[in-house]
Amino acid sequence: EKEKFKERAVLSMKYEELVAKVKKDEAESGRKSLSLIVVGHVDAGKSTLMGRLLYELGELSEKEKTANERGSKKVGKGSFAFAWGLDALGDERDRGVTIDIATTHFHTPHRAITLLDAPGHKDFIPAMISGAAQADVALMVVDGSPGEFEAGFDRGGQTREHAWLVRSLGVKEIIVGVNKLDMVSWSQDRYDEITAAMKPFLVSAGFSSSKTTFLPIAAMEGVNILERDEPLLNAWYSGPTLIDTLDKVEVPERPYETPLRIPVSNVFKGQTAVASGVAVSGRLCSGVVQVGDRIRAVPGDEVANVRTIEVDEDSAPYAVAGQNVTLYLSGIDPIHLSIGTVLCPTSLPVKLVSQFTAQILVFDLQTPIIAGAAVELFHHSMNLPANITKLISISEKGQVIKKNPRVLQKGTTALVEITLRSSPNSSRPATIPLETAADNKEMGRVLIRRSGETIAAGVVMELV
Ligand code: GDP
Repeated sequence: EKEKFKERAVLSMKYEELVAKVKKDEAESGRKSLSLIVVGHVDAGKSTLMGRLLYELGELSEKEKTANERGSKKVGKGSFAFAWGLDALGDERDRGVTIDIATTHFHTPHRAITLLDAPGHKDFIPAMISGAAQADVALMVVDGSPGEFEAGFDRGGQTREHAWLVRSLGVKEIIVGVNKLDMVSWSQDRYDEITAAMKPFLVSAGFSSSKTTFLPIAAMEGVNILERDEPLLNAWYSGPTLIDTLDKVEVPERPYETPLRIPVSNVFKGQTAVASGVAVSGRLCSGVVQVGDRIRAVPGDEVANVRTIEVDEDSAPYAVAGQNVTLYLSGIDPIHLSIGTVLCPTSLPVKLVSQFTAQILVFDLQTPIIAGAAVELFHHSMNLPANITKLISISEKGQVIKKNPRVLQKGTTALVEITLRSSPNSSRPATIPLETAADNKEMGRVLIRRSGETIAAGVVMELV
């Protein structure tokens, strides 16, 4: 603790100086931060894979693994051994007052990876939305065993919806782990059959084929994760392992120069002597922040001091766009902080709006969207009741083909007006901190759900 405290020298740099330092530090270390989300049909092996990965990287001790095995045997899930590792590691669970998604960290030679996960979550998709809203790359796990890939890929399975969702939330790169190949004696035909079905689908969902990687794996036995010690697989595969692949994921250009925006995904109380007081976590959508900065919490008029910054559970003098952080704050009452609060520079706060226009892509839905439709609006970790108040136009390939449409069917791209619905016993209109996608890509992205189904994804065009 003391060591950490000493390291926390306040830089007190000007914004431009800090941005320059950040870029220099990054170039020197060669290590970049990356956020990963794991998706796929239930039981495909997501938790097992991540548990195994952490174990092989030494992030999960033999003792924890044994304890997990024992714990999972007790509940009658013998093969669940690794899946439990994630729960044990999610320390946010113990200290958090409000839990959004648990995050775990690990390193490859050139990447500091934050794993955004919500395994076993009751309502997985909303949790995935807040996770995917922050992810740079998705790892999709599909079950290669007989009949199981098909069950997950056909209508009603989650494979397609997850791929659509992550893509529409801005994730451009996807790694598909074709799992449980031990169940089919490492058959290359089976692997080829699955990749042949998945590839065109992923391209149609908007992933470019150069950003789509397939890997044959077995999560349980740990084959082709860190190493590949399986003669049956070696007979026909000599490509990269999962770790090799993660280490080479291209990191998107980060908007360091854009004003700071941190949508808060968790608020809790720091419990140690050094890290006491109110703490918030979230991802920097843009900008940089350093210890000693004064930042403003929107909505509200409150300003807080940044006392400590934690990046990947280590204290750091500053944090930059693309990183997931915990900030310990002073000078602010926690009642002014909640999930969905956006932390900003005092001079450049984000605007609060109750109405905006968005360009949306309509998903596979049962009943078409009509003007006035009541929906749930998702923006980062926030969700609010809203109405699609106007259907302005439908476009195709960037051209408006119809004005004032009566309905929106699946697959259409449309410009709509969205209005937040204020609660019946409030005199003030409901608002949300929002920006146009042109001003801030990550702050300008929304999802629209209705009766537990994601019906559209969109980008914010204009704030009304
Ligand atoms: P999730 O729902 O996607 O997180 O799936 P889990 O990780 O809970 O795994 C579902 C089941 O598949 C468990 O019983 C695992 O033991 C099993 N499983 C996972 N990976 C493998 C594998 O590589 N081979 C085999 N045979 N079973 C696996």
